[in-house]
Amino acid sequence: MIAHHFTVDLEEFFQVAALESRVPRSEWGHFESRLAAPVAQLLDLLASHHAQATFFVLGWVAARQPELIRAIARAGHEIASHGWDHARVTTQSPVQFQVSIRRTKDLLEEITGEPVWGFRAPSFSIVRGREWALDLLINEGYRYDSSLFPVRRPGGGYGYPAGLSDPHWLERPAGGLVEIPPTTLRWCGMRLPAAGGAYFRLLPYGIVQAAFRQSEQRGIPGTFYIHPWELDPAQPRLAVAWHTRVRHYGGLSRTTRQLARLFSEFRFTAVRDTVAAIAASRGRPPEVAAVCA
Ligand SMILES: [Zn+2]
Repeated sequence: MIAHHFTVDLEEFFQVAALESRVPRSEWGHFESRLAAPVAQLLDLLASHHAQATFFVLGWVAARQPELIRAIARAGHEIASHGWDHARVTTQSPVQFQVSIRRTKDLLEEITGEPVWGFRAPSFSIVRGREWALDLLINEGYRYDSSLFPVRRPGGGYGYPAGLSDPHWLERPAGGLVEIPPTTLRWCGMRLPAAGGAYFRLLPYGIVQAAFRQSEQRGIPGTFYIHPWELDPAQPRLAVAWHTRVRHYGGLSRTTRQLARLFSEFRFTAVRDTVAAIAASRGRPPEVAAVCA
C-alpha cells in the first residue's frame, strides 16, 4: 500500500494570504496564537494512525514558539520551511526571497538540531517567470521544493501548468532538486486541484479520494496539505469579501470528520522518504520517469 505525503502549512489564522488586506504584517503581534489546539489534534491523529507528516513552518511562528516546533519534531515528523513571513514569491525580489529562506532554514535547524530539506512557497507562489526561486533554494542547501501546483488557474496567484503531476527530479542551472507537487485529479484531459485545503473542505470528499486513488494506480505517492486554522471552526472571523469568506471559512466544521475518513482509507508519511529515494537513484527513478514521460 502506497504511503502518501501528509503535509501541514504551519501558520496562524491571521497570516493567510487571502486576509492580508485586513491584517497587515505590522499587526500580527497583536493577535493571540491559536495553533496549540489544532496542532495537538493533528499530532494525535497522526500518532493514532502511526503516520508521519511534513510540517512547512513559517519562520515568524518558529521564532515565537520554538517549543511547539520541537514538540512536532520530537513526535517524529519532518520540519520544513514555509519562508519567514508568508510573503509570496510573486511579491519578492530574489534578494528578499534568499534572505527569507536562509533565515527560516537557519532558525528551524537551530531549534530542532536537524537539517531542513524542504520548502513550500506561501500560496504555491513559484509561478512561471519566478523559477529563479528554485535556483536560490538549491544554492541555500534545500533538497526539495513543493510549490509548483501543476494546474491552470485563470487570474490566480498560483499555478504552474507546465509542471509535472508527480514527484520528480528537476534540473536547474544551479544544480538539481526534487519537486513534490500537490496532488491533482486527472479528469477529461484536465488536471484539477485536489490536494487539500479549500478543495478538501468545500468539494465532495470523493474528489480528493479519486485523486489519491489515481496516484496509487500510477504507483506514486500523492501529496495532501492542510493548515491548522482549517481545524479551528471557532477562530475569529475577519470582515472580508463574500467569496473570500466562503473559500476561507467554508467547511471548517467538516475538516476533522473528513480527515478521519482520509486516514481510514489511505496511509501517510513525510515527504523526506520520497526525496531520499529519488535523490539516491540520481534523480531518474524508472517508475517516476515513465509516469512523467
Ligand atoms: Zn501558507
